[in-house]
Amino acid sequence: MRIAVIPGDGIGQEVISAALRVLARIGDVVDGGIRCDVFDWGADKWLAESVGLPEGSLEVLRHEYDAILLGAFGDPRIPDMAHGRDILLGLRRGLDLCVNYRPVPLQGGSLDVYRENTQGLYVGVGGTVCVGNTAQVAIDECVYTRDTVERFMQYCLADLRRRGRARVTLVHKSNAVPNTGGLWQDVFRRELGRLPGLEGTEEYVDAFCYHLIRDPTRYEGVVTSNLFGDIVSDIGAALMGGLGLAASASINPETGFGLFEPVHGSAPDIAGTGAANPYGALMCVVLLLRHFGLETVANTLHSSLSEAVGTRAATPDVGGTGTTSAFTDEVLCRLNAKLS
Ligand code: ATP
Ligand code: MG
Repeated sequence: MRIAVIPGDGIGQEVISAALRVLARIGDVVDGGIRCDVFDWGADKWLAESVGLPEGSLEVLRHEYDAILLGAFGDPRIPDMAHGRDILLGLRRGLDLCVNYRPVPLQGGSLDVYRENTQGLYVGVGGTVCVGNTAQVAIDECVYTRDTVERFMQYCLADLRRRGRARVTLVHKSNAVPNTGGLWQDVFRRELGRLPGLEGTEEYVDAFCYHLIRDPTRYEGVVTSNLFGDIVSDIGAALMGGLGLAASASINPETGFGLFEPVHGSAPDIAGTGAANPYGALMCVVLLLRHFGLETVANTLHSSLSEAVGTRAATPDVGGTGTTSAFTDEVLCRLNAKLS
């Protein structure tokens, strides 16, 4: 397996170092090994060379790698995160990673959230009508194509079935946003009709968020649009006990190419202090291994992580007294014991 590793900025670099240590160990037990090549794309490169995503990168990634493991972008010297947007949007759109998957472990269950990642309100279509320099009307258009919603839906529903899920909820707002909402409902119903055994329900996003916070175990799988998914997945991160724990995968449904990244940002406030929790980044490795069919070793790493997070070696954000490297040592120690 060939992985392009983009540590990025701030604690992104710290949590990705942890992931590389773990990947090196896992490479020993995986057929063909795991090759990790590190790419130095991030704030320093942007400031020195004005380069975000270097030209030709998409071709290289597509042809020479199976997946990307990414830390985080964000730097106080670049207030609008222009470099991060350039790279992340470039990768998401250029590699057509329209499915964003985030697992949410819960007490008494777990939830799989799928967010469409390339269209909707985030397409950047719109503008302002100004009088002088003052905007009087501001417009951001929500755009969905049937093709993208179908590819997204087919992947997500099949993936839920693979995970043994019985129920899926479409989160929408078609009472207020009828055109795109109606398209989503139509595709959802048609695709469900082709997959017997998966029971579908539809909920308005407002009611859904209310119920999700009151009792998340009501849900098993959620499929939703870009904006709603952005919000719902952060509620998910809060429900599971913090940003440092959450992992995500962005997938191209046709090629299977995946970009795996922890949900948290570069956190300049704690960068360099050793307080960064690498759990989310290590969960990305679990997702990556599962995505490529390495279920057994993925489960071994997952259980090592779950055990380690209950010890004092856990980082302060989750109640421990450890550091990034102490927690990683604890995980590796448990992983070594299970693999040998
Ligand atoms: P963004 O610009 O993407 O919002 P950010 O740098 O503000 O990124 P967030 O992910 O929003 O970072 O995190 C908010 C705060 O939560 C951080 O400033 C940090 O204090 C804490 N935090 C985030 N991730 C972690 C982590 N992995 N370990 C420990 N603390 C974290
Ligand atoms: Mg933030």
